[in-house]
Amino acid sequence: MERPVASNTIDAPVGRILDSLRGLELATRPVGPEVAAALERLWNELPEHARVPNQTMGRHTTACEGTHGVFPKCDFGCTPCYHSKEANLVRIDGDHTVGEVDRQMAYMRKRRGPGQYAQLIGGEVSLLTPSDHARALQAMVRHDRKPMSFTHGDFDYDYLRALAVDEHDEPRFEHLSFAGHFDTTMVGRRGLKRPRSERELNPFRERFCAMFERLEREYGITHYLAHNMTVTADNVEQIPDVIRDCHHMGWRLFSHQPAAFIGNPARWQDDFRELTNERVWEQIEAGAGTRLPYKAIQVGDERCNRGVWGFYVGERYVPLLDDEHKGDMRARDGFFKSVGGMDFYAAKRLVATRIVRAALRHPGVIPPTVGWASRLLKRAGVRNLIREPVHAITFGLHAFMDAEDVKAAWELLQQDVMSDDPRIRTTQERLQACAYAMAHPDSDLIVPACVQHSVLDPLEVATLRTELPLEPRKPIRKLDLVSR
Ligand code: SF4
Repeated sequence: MERPVASNTIDAPVGRILDSLRGLELATRPVGPEVAAALERLWNELPEHARVPNQTMGRHTTACEGTHGVFPKCDFGCTPCYHSKEANLVRIDGDHTVGEVDRQMAYMRKRRGPGQYAQLIGGEVSLLTPSDHARALQAMVRHDRKPMSFTHGDFDYDYLRALAVDEHDEPRFEHLSFAGHFDTTMVGRRGLKRPRSERELNPFRERFCAMFERLEREYGITHYLAHNMTVTADNVEQIPDVIRDCHHMGWRLFSHQPAAFIGNPARWQDDFRELTNERVWEQIEAGAGTRLPYKAIQVGDERCNRGVWGFYVGERYVPLLDDEHKGDMRARDGFFKSVGGMDFYAAKRLVATRIVRAALRHPGVIPPTVGWASRLLKRAGVRNLIREPVHAITFGLHAFMDAEDVKAAWELLQQDVMSDDPRIRTTQERLQACAYAMAHPDSDLIVPACVQHSVLDPLEVATLRTELPLEPRKPIRKLDLVSR
């Protein structure tokens, strides 16, 4: 007679061993199945013109995500301002922020998979209380996003600490990412209401970076800081000085946004049209002191985004890839093929194991990778690498489009019609390859940020004004007047 109890006793440990082996196999895969599926979906959704060899969307990343309608209010007056005219009439409300962030990020998690970069963005994030700000970031982390808070940077260390550390003085986060917006288009900074030159802002940029250094020293919380700069005809020629003066402060990314006619029309100026991506990029290159080969990697549409990854060795900037070197381009292709989509910010041992697995699966990528690494060492100089400080910096450009064009282009795209007007058609092509996405769970849609700011923000803000009206000002009592 069979003895099922004995056989179960043997099966259970075997089952457990098999389960752990399966778990280990999954954890050490260079790219997990969810990310792989999200990348493939995105690649298939990209328009033909964007499916080029240097395209990173759908190969390595599903690009950037951002929140909307979560805290529209801001206490600065920038020209331009990409937010809706009535955004400042919506009350800041922590529960609304956290609830909306949670909904939007849950939707992104479902559509774009885990581990993607998401911006906590709206009006001014530091108008949230530190604990509401922390709760919003925690909601993003819960949905497996890598959050970055967008701010004008005009807050003190006490705010940062209260956000980063709980009531028992324990860190709430291991790492924080912030984008600090600093430029002469902004009005309202404490101590420098109306900057007349970019250089005047340098002490404020330095102070911002220093707060995060202090947080790391005191609590071990690491950071990634992006420097955001709106570019107009007035400050475009000051870009080189900003980069030269500030690259050593602790920034990891210098991102430049040429001004566009989008958002609040009361904040537009006539000279926005004078800027082209070429003109802005030339100035970024002048600041970096070298050609910045942005064609090596494309994020979405080249007319929207340019980016170069690299590092400073002392005062010299060295891009990781040279877009004019065929060997470098072969190495890039090998990267996409073998580890495209891999999370390089996972635990170091896990990353190393995943790389070994990828190399074993695609041994053909090893020779071009070794060739690229030796060229890179030569370009940087082995001696310089030993003697001089080395720090990684990315240079970027993101060119929003004018609201009028976006409205026309989006309306036609909703009807599945491509315009005959070259300007609107270009806008449509760029929207189709958008690299900056915002979630609309109710309508089961992901929309480009250009569409959000040009078409949807005014409607959303009108609703929020009713749901979250500003607190009525308290009337001044007679007694108060007497006591003054
Ligand atoms: S938000 Fe607009 S400018 Fe930015 S990537 Fe998307 S379509 Fe291009």
